[in-house]
Amino acid sequence: MTAISLGMPSVPTKLAERRKSRQIQVGSVAVGGDAPVSVQSMTTTRTSDIGATLQQIAELTASGCQIVRVACPTQDDADALAVIAKKSQIPVIADIHFQPKYVFAAIEAGCAAVRVNPGNIKQFDDKVKEIARAAKDHGTPIRIGVNAGSLDRRLLQKYGKATPEALVESALWEASLFEEHDFREIKISVKHNDPVVMIEAYRQLAAQCEYPLHLGVTEAGPAFQGTIKSAVAFGALLSQGIGDTIRVSLSAPPVEEVKVGNQILESLNLKQRGLEIVSCPSCGRAQVDVYKLAEEVTAGLTGMEVPLRVAVMGCVVNGPGEAREADLGVASGNGKGQIFVKGEVIKTVPESKIVETLIEEAMKLAEQMEAAGMESGEPSVSVAG
Ligand code: SF4
Repeated sequence: MTAISLGMPSVPTKLAERRKSRQIQVGSVAVGGDAPVSVQSMTTTRTSDIGATLQQIAELTASGCQIVRVACPTQDDADALAVIAKKSQIPVIADIHFQPKYVFAAIEAGCAAVRVNPGNIKQFDDKVKEIARAAKDHGTPIRIGVNAGSLDRRLLQKYGKATPEALVESALWEASLFEEHDFREIKISVKHNDPVVMIEAYRQLAAQCEYPLHLGVTEAGPAFQGTIKSAVAFGALLSQGIGDTIRVSLSAPPVEEVKVGNQILESLNLKQRGLEIVSCPSCGRAQVDVYKLAEEVTAGLTGMEVPLRVAVMGCVVNGPGEAREADLGVASGNGKGQIFVKGEVIKTVPESKIVETLIEEAMKLAEQMEAAGMESGEPSVSVAG
């Protein structure tokens, strides 16, 4: 029998082809080219406190961080870099402002890359030759990290403020200085706290160079605001194929940044989705406390490391449809819950048994998926209805 198309548009698994960028190697993580978009964060400990910094790096690693940056404002911090770079499970980037001597210290210490902010390093341009030579000798890539808050004075005068053009000109100027010394192991960021300016800056930059791009909305704010700003800005760029590594900046513990970063990538299908709870927002038709149900199911499944989609729905309007589409689901009504597994109703249980039944069935499915060798992921919650 011939399949007949019903004219339904096919759903793209990804929104755009990746921009073709050069690939660089940040320690064990490839950035750019066809390498997956990576998630980074930055430690908040004093880098000189080696134990605390390594502890935080371990927590970040466990939450899915792939590259970590550490600040290096003092000689004590520079002295700690070698041990941290050696013992960290993920590549360590030293973040250098103001003092060029720490750039050399970080390269010598074996950091996987060094971030420099040319606007903040006095006579940086005069040092590029030596930095390029040291970086080349050690195979250390450099991130040129231009920031709206510390834009080169010359460009501030030219443009009046940190416009997208000013950010891009600053970054490409610095890159050209490295190119003069035949150094191209570069990635670039042009961060601004306003997502609209930031998006435009990265679009212009993407059109004018082949370097891999590190996306960031700088000073994005507290968790709620920063999450929204980052999701909007990264979403706009990544959905056009722009961006090779991301850092969400939140005034919140860095583990939260990593969770948000991973969730953004999962939402765009740029990363294998983890456990996903599709729960409806509830409405006047709900015949069960959907919020409580979704929270209890999420709590019961947190830590599960398989890409399982679980639907928690409040009534029979969309419930059976969503539950059927998910790996596992419940459509509630009349004090009962119809439990779906892989599209089939396997049983109907009283409302008081919905949570435990879902968790029990999720465990069985997870075991089957693990046995089949499916990749792990982080829990996430999405809302339908
Ligand atoms: S499934 Fe939709 S219609 Fe039913 S309770 Fe949830 S939001 Fe309301």
